[in-house]
Amino acid sequence: MAKTVVPIVSERQEQAERRRAQVLSLPVPLNGEIRTENDSLVDRRHRPLRDIRISVTDHCNFRCRYCMPKEKFDSHHQFLTHTELLTFDEITRLVRIFVKLGVQKVRLTGGEPTLRKHLSELIARLKKIPRADGRPLDIAMTTNATLLERMAGELKAAGLDRVTVSLDAVDETIFQSINDVGFPAKKVLDGIWAARDAGLPVKVNTVLKKGMNEGEIIPLVEAFRHTGVVLRFIEYMDAGTANGWRMDDVLPSATVVERINAVYPLEPLDPNYRGETAARWRFKDGGGEIGFISSVTQAFCKDCTRARLSVEGGLFLCLFADRGYDLRTMLRGGATDQEIEEAISLIWCSRNDNYSEIRHSGGNPDRQRIEMQYIGG
Ligand code: SAM
Ligand code: SF4
Ligand code: SF4
Repeated sequence: MAKTVVPIVSERQEQAERRRAQVLSLPVPLNGEIRTENDSLVDRRHRPLRDIRISVTDHCNFRCRYCMPKEKFDSHHQFLTHTELLTFDEITRLVRIFVKLGVQKVRLTGGEPTLRKHLSELIARLKKIPRADGRPLDIAMTTNATLLERMAGELKAAGLDRVTVSLDAVDETIFQSINDVGFPAKKVLDGIWAARDAGLPVKVNTVLKKGMNEGEIIPLVEAFRHTGVVLRFIEYMDAGTANGWRMDDVLPSATVVERINAVYPLEPLDPNYRGETAARWRFKDGGGEIGFISSVTQAFCKDCTRARLSVEGGLFLCLFADRGYDLRTMLRGGATDQEIEEAISLIWCSRNDNYSEIRHSGGNPDRQRIEMQYIGG
């Protein structure tokens, strides 16, 4: 039952062609079989499909040095045109299909998702899709919070369930040098409090990179203890190739736990559910919860139930994938829901990705990983 998905052709520049070749040229494979366990579709490592991360725009108003460095994402960079993006109709149609296949959570990301026009309209449409078990779909968003103070109420009213805000420092000089557009940390904090006050549970993600913001660990902890906002430290990852990642730049979570524990004693908590990316801890003095996402030093591939949908409808099975599957051509080429469902099922069942487990031991160091703002962080 091999299916062919036609690559989209006619791009403008070499840069775009290279991306296209990586992303959209694979035929939906596979002579494979559909495999299920406990009524769930499972991949070759027995992992069900539970989460989908959707990149709704490749644009961003920051130029974080570790994600979209200015030198690479300058005025010559070819961002996608509006017609290349999946429309809300297309996203909604795909999510309906993903939900039939077991997806329970959708995360909107990017680029900067709040830059996508009428985002709350998309949220409202997704929120109406019931999960296979009849419960409401969980809708989350990851954002740099530049527009959150203004948008929090509207997003919550549309059906957003939770928000994750990225904030790498509270010191203004350090934060503005990381985002590289001079945006104040104070305004991100205003967005965080506005979201919390609008009734959205808020998590804050901090990427730690040696020499960049190590000194911000304790100030960030202090900014969020006793606030109900859960801070999570993320190890700097080799996502994409624009950031020139080196293992020496990674600050292992174990070191971060030690440093915090020396000032504010911590104790571990059990995970909330299978596949939770963050290891959970809490402050012994009742200051709240804190998390650590250690995808470099403690891979969690074995429980990874996430797929990613790129801005233009490429389905990626791993954050570090070098290839995606072109669903947009199916959507725009007249495929039925049944055909798309079958294709996604085959793709998921063929999945064997475990990049973080083999990062140091194998694989091709030169392989072209997709940039995070495109694939969705
Ligand atoms: N613009 C939004 C934001 O920053 O929250 C959403 C997209 S961004 C790509 C999603 C997340 O990926 C952010 O929390 C960001 O810090 C994280 N991220 C980007 N590049 C990373 C890297 N190389 N290693 C670890 N996390 C990274
Ligand atoms: Fe933009 Fe988010 Fe990447 Fe920073 S991490 S450049 S805010 S997409
Ligand atoms: Fe999932 Fe890939 Fe990350 Fe492993 S490396 S946890 S498979 S996204």
